[in-house]
Amino acid sequence: MKLEAYAWTDPGPVRDNNEDAYHLDEDGGLFIVADGMGGHAAGEVASRIAVDTLTELLSGDLLDPDETRLDRQVGDPADLLRERLRYAMNQASARIRREAQANPAWAGMGTTVAVLLIEGEQAHIAHVGDSRVYLVRDGRISRLTRDHTVVQQEIDAGRLTPEMARRVTHRNYLTQSVGYHGPVEPDTITRPVLPGDLFLLCSDGVTDPLDDPHIAELAGEADPPELAERLVREAIAGGGEDNITALVVRVTDEA
Ligand code: CA
Repeated sequence: MKLEAYAWTDPGPVRDNNEDAYHLDEDGGLFIVADGMGGHAAGEVASRIAVDTLTELLSGDLLDPDETRLDRQVGDPADLLRERLRYAMNQASARIRREAQANPAWAGMGTTVAVLLIEGEQAHIAHVGDSRVYLVRDGRISRLTRDHTVVQQEIDAGRLTPEMARRVTHRNYLTQSVGYHGPVEPDTITRPVLPGDLFLLCSDGVTDPLDDPHIAELAGEADPPELAERLVREAIAGGGEDNITALVVRVTDEA
């Protein structure tokens, strides 16, 4: 299987700066979207530190087992990879906190992180916050991440329907974020990968204005090389005012 990836990001029509960051590495199978927050452009700093830290710790030969002792604790390769994702997220969180402590203007900065690591025929996914990962397979879209938001908690508790939640003003209040919350507990999953699969990573700049059926419709219409830009343009047309980032990964059956 071969991976092709395309990303598009835009500050949106209202903001001067873009606090979203992304990384794509088709050969290494590593894809990241981070959505930073904090005043004085600190959100840009936080999302950049997160992307750089994850790239450093998850690329190439991965981690030194003597440093992490992960290899000795975890037997199954998929478990080990998910443990590495959790470790990298927490390293990113610690680095962001150290920078925030050293620079008072950056106090309180943090970032969401959604990461997709494809190795062989498995996709490992980890996230903190409300940046999302979707899978489009056979024309059907499924959301592989569950937002770490107060609103999602209310949905889970049965106090809000997903439709009501889309109209709540404080729908982006996060229950955890990398950096701001210190130690984090990313959700991690492993899924089999099939030729034809299309993964989508995006910040809430995409998913606030566009609901899942709308995203699925666009994924059905646009070819992967155009899809990321199309999602961003539709989000702006749909009234999005936030920074907007979409990253599309197509799995082909070429060798
Ligand atoms: Ca955002």
